[in-house]
Amino acid sequence: MDIKDLFRDKLVLSFEVFPPKTDAGMEKLCKEDGELEKLYALKPDYISCTYGAGGTNVGKNLEVLTRIRKDGKTIPMTHFNCIGSTKESIRDTLSGYLDHGIHHMLALRGDFPIGWRTTGGDLNYATELVSFVRQEFGDRFTIAVAGSPEGHIESASYKDDIRFLKMKQDCGADYIMTQLCWDMEQFKRWFDEIRKEGITIPVDVGVMPILNAASTINMALSRNACVMPRKLCEIISRNWIFPNVFAPGESEEDVARKKAEFMEEGIRYTIDQIAEYRSIGVNGIHLYTLNRSGPVARILDASGLLNL
Ligand code: FAD
Repeated sequence: MDIKDLFRDKLVLSFEVFPPKTDAGMEKLCKEDGELEKLYALKPDYISCTYGAGGTNVGKNLEVLTRIRKDGKTIPMTHFNCIGSTKESIRDTLSGYLDHGIHHMLALRGDFPIGWRTTGGDLNYATELVSFVRQEFGDRFTIAVAGSPEGHIESASYKDDIRFLKMKQDCGADYIMTQLCWDMEQFKRWFDEIRKEGITIPVDVGVMPILNAASTINMALSRNACVMPRKLCEIISRNWIFPNVFAPGESEEDVARKKAEFMEEGIRYTIDQIAEYRSIGVNGIHLYTLNRSGPVARILDASGLLNL
């Protein structure tokens, strides 16, 4: 089964997990009745696993993906970046994935580690990685690439960013997975614009469930500078749990109550966001599960995305 073929017939549903750093985290994800099993029950078309910048966590990435492959209940996909890698090491690593039966990848440049100004390797951009993979492996990989609806944070201009996205398609990418974007008006503009510029490959939208205030703020601002719409800011504001001069000495119970309320409001927000994405006609919904199946199941159920 190949993901690129699925887009022709249906709205593709997929999940993203991260490779845990600890044995306890691995156990929770991969044990017999662990989070992976619970995610399979939601019938995703594929599950992707993130890849640490500069090669960190890669061992566990392969362990998680090998487990998904062995379980045989969905398609495993690896994220892959070229930070600090020579062409030779990229060739070897990707051959290893193929040997393990993993032939779907998200081809990324990767974020520069702090203090770096280049990839520190043989390839500089995702465009080069896609070309290299096609040159070395032909069609043995189905290749997704990243798209940034608000423009990549380092891009010289929004137009240039779309031009480079088109280059990724021309170099052989099969589909786009997007950076999270809560600004729906901006997303619609970008979606129209890329189609006008001749980008025809499917768009699989990255959705981060709003479950935790700190993670939401961190994902939006630490690397990507994503716009947070007023409605989302209001949810954060209503349930503020960070140091607050206006509410000194809040009890632990107050904080716990606000966290729970934040999650409830965040789940409703995510459900509405998925409905908007679907109404625009995107080709897939890719949920960042944060390795937690419970909230994902609730969101999918309320969104009518179970058993599609
Ligand atoms: P590129 O497409 O190479 O773009 C980087 C910058 O260079 C952009 O500003 C672009 O406009 C510009 N550019 C692109 N091509 C050219 C060119 N040919 N010439 C000149 N300029 C160019 N990172 C990880 O390390 N691990 C992960 O698992 C991971 N998962 C991700 C999942 C998704 C869905 C997304 C959207 C991102 C993910 N990232 C991950 C983050 C990603 O690595 C960063 O966003 C990184 O900063 C850029 O990667 P890219 O592939 O978009 O880079």
